[in-house]
Amino acid sequence: MSIERLLNTVKNNNPEADLDLIRLAYDYAAKAHDGQKRASGEPYINHPLAVAQYLAEINLDTAIIIAGLLHDVPEDTSATIKDIEKNFGSDIASMVAGITKLGKLKYRGVERYVENLRKMFIAIAQDVRIMIIKFADRLHNLKTLDSLPENKRYRIALESLEMFAPIAGRLGMGEIKGQLEDLSFKYVDAENYQLMLKLQTESSSVHQKNLDKIKEITEKELASARVPIISFHGRIKHLYSLFRKFIRYNKEIDKIYDIVALRVIVPTIADCYASLGIIHKLWRPVPNRIKDYIAQPKPNGYQSLHTATFCLEGQIVEFQIRTEKMHEEAEYGIAAHWQYKEHKTGENKAKQISWINELAQIQKTVFKNVKDIENLKIDFFQNRIFVWTPRGDIIDLPEAATPVDFAYAIHTDVGNKCVGCRINNQLSSLDTPLKNGDIAEIIIDKKRKGPNPGWLKFVKTNGAKSRIKTYAKSSLGDWIKDKLSIIKENLPN
Ligand code: MN
Repeated sequence: MSIERLLNTVKNNNPEADLDLIRLAYDYAAKAHDGQKRASGEPYINHPLAVAQYLAEINLDTAIIIAGLLHDVPEDTSATIKDIEKNFGSDIASMVAGITKLGKLKYRGVERYVENLRKMFIAIAQDVRIMIIKFADRLHNLKTLDSLPENKRYRIALESLEMFAPIAGRLGMGEIKGQLEDLSFKYVDAENYQLMLKLQTESSSVHQKNLDKIKEITEKELASARVPIISFHGRIKHLYSLFRKFIRYNKEIDKIYDIVALRVIVPTIADCYASLGIIHKLWRPVPNRIKDYIAQPKPNGYQSLHTATFCLEGQIVEFQIRTEKMHEEAEYGIAAHWQYKEHKTGENKAKQISWINELAQIQKTVFKNVKDIENLKIDFFQNRIFVWTPRGDIIDLPEAATPVDFAYAIHTDVGNKCVGCRINNQLSSLDTPLKNGDIAEIIIDKKRKGPNPGWLKFVKTNGAKSRIKTYAKSSLGDWIKDKLSIIKENLPN
């Protein structure tokens, strides 16, 4: 770790970067932290340097790297945000101020959890770059966790696993999410971590010999069909993600085909589908294991074609096919918008930003007490599905949401007046769990007074729940008023 290495990384990625300003920020931070030590005993400046190095390695722009170098200055030293603003400008100062605010937590236990999550939402809504730096900060803290006492280790790891990783995932930052999870997993559940490590090692050593052969054959076939290949490599599944799948598959490890997968990166979407066809001609596909996340992206924006095929001696291998742009989005998500090579479409950016605004609204309206946190966790961090309206609008819902959830997500009135639905043109009951890609059409009865309280038994979203309850309450009020007026009218004078 050194400033020279950081400057080199930046220069390689971005020849036009202002290296002098980065060096200035380093000198400023080094002076401010002078004499301070990390828990490990090493000079404190190594920490902000590691954070900046990580941000530079994922190719983020100069302002973010500088904010990374300065991120602990106002928290731990006598220099203030004002000083930083004077020296480095208001944009960098406001990022550093955002990170400093995130760091200051008053409460303990569950309250602390709520406070922390709330602050993160505010930070994301204010400026996503703050959260990206915070992720880099947390990654380095997790890597140096061994120097802390055990109870602190566990708390930080758990917080990273339950809070930071899901947010990174929701922002589409797959690579950071995977790293945050694997680094924390080791401290949160050491036994299962070791088990997954063992399964992963075994599986990749069994696969390796055949995999090289399969890769070679496939590569040749793609080349002879003139598909231009940008990259073709094996990827090993992250440990915590493997663990989740392991549990989901009732610990039947033989049914998990993607511990090691082959990743094909090609220039265009047409090349993706062409590759899929060639791979299927070469290797027989496993039925029902083809996933087209290009036509139907995951809610966090993830796009790829996945297919599992029988190769060589019947060994099942998963292929993941995507363009370079999809690959970058999958690894870096929203952070890709601040990478030096900006080539994102405006539309994509607008979609991401609208999600951020949605978060800001949620934290303002929903987030009022401790109980809400559990609800919020369920609604926002579990897997999401996309359901289409007949007109082609996409509604983003949690997994297993029902047509009633869908109706309320469209409009309160649609929810209140819904009497039935068609899913993919089939009449279906209102409690049918929806699947990703379904087309749902809600049948409404304009004369219907309000929702059925029985729906509360199966709806999945807080939006639907709270609106059914609100209606029940207000209509109960009406009912009582009605009765009172009847009683009044009939009272003997
Ligand atoms: Mn820090």
